[in-house]
Amino acid sequence: MSTVKLASGHEMPLVGFGLWKVPQETAADTVYNAIKAGYRLFDGAYDYQNEKEAGEGIRRAIKEGLVKREDIFVTTKLWNNYHSKKHALPMMKAQNEAWGLGYIDLFLMHFPVALEYVDPEVKRYPGWWMEDGKTVKPAKVSIRETWEELEAAVDQGIAKSIGVSNFQAQLLYDVQTYAKHPISSLQIEHHPYLVQAELIKMAQTHNIAITAYSSFGPQSFLELPPAFRQRASDVGLLFDAEPVKKISSKHNKTPAQVLLRWATQRNIAVIPKSNNQNRLAQNLDATSFDLAQGELDSISALDKGLRFNDPGHYLPNHPLHIFA
Ligand code: NAD
Repeated sequence: MSTVKLASGHEMPLVGFGLWKVPQETAADTVYNAIKAGYRLFDGAYDYQNEKEAGEGIRRAIKEGLVKREDIFVTTKLWNNYHSKKHALPMMKAQNEAWGLGYIDLFLMHFPVALEYVDPEVKRYPGWWMEDGKTVKPAKVSIRETWEELEAAVDQGIAKSIGVSNFQAQLLYDVQTYAKHPISSLQIEHHPYLVQAELIKMAQTHNIAITAYSSFGPQSFLELPPAFRQRASDVGLLFDAEPVKKISSKHNKTPAQVLLRWATQRNIAVIPKSNNQNRLAQNLDATSFDLAQGELDSISALDKGLRFNDPGHYLPNHPLHIFA
């Protein structure tokens, strides 16, 4: 399996399995079957509300001798309501216990924005909102405060590596001025409609491994409620984009595999999600063929700077323009 070496010194698989929207009821079986299919990296988050079940699936595979703990790479993320010094470490500990695997391989700050604390006992899944389900309340917590708690998670053996998600260059430069442990990974929305070439160049120059999410662009957002899917409904599917289709038939690979290879060939990890056995297998096979430079460029030329996961667009009254 192809891997990428993180700044922490640990290896991360280049292809993994994304757990967003994998239902709680099926998550344990989905993960267990993904391990059987050959997946070793699982990308979770408190936000996905299936950490406990995903951990159960992994533990079942370990118990049956399919894999050892050290063969598996678990990424998870700290949600926005738990950024403060008071809440971050207890939350990361609780998440680690939910997975039940001893440690987390890579702990990420999910978004560069702190929201007021919501007691998980009162509202188990806050999303972007307070207990009332409609107010978004930013909290006065700096990125530095949260980063230092991620570092404490490394020092206490909760996480092997740490990183960030949905950050842009300015904050990465800032974190680097005080980081005691390296920013091992940056997870970002990355597909041919949102290439972010400069950000990728900056991160790779600084040995920050990129993980791409939503590699199939609009596809994932079409499944969401209206405000979240609007931008996705207004553009064509990447699977139908001319260069993708042409390259797919030339290499005898599916458009999905071409989109994944476009990333992995540039040393960018991918974490596609599928609940379908056939797609699960084809997505894993995203490093076994090579595209020509001209082919990579023709896919990158589809760039529209179009971001689907943008709270500045989908939250009512647009209170958080974090990508402005
Ligand atoms: P994705 O790009 O993996 O797309 C998923 C969609 O594509 C689903 O509708 C699935 O049925 C379909 N699909 C999967 N394989 C296919 C194939 N071979 N052919 C055709 N269709 C296929 O989207 P995603 O779930 O948004 O992103 C992947 C993962 O990234 C998530 O599960 C999550 O772990 C992570 N993620 C992270 C963030 C973040 O803020 N850090 C945000 C979104 C997603």
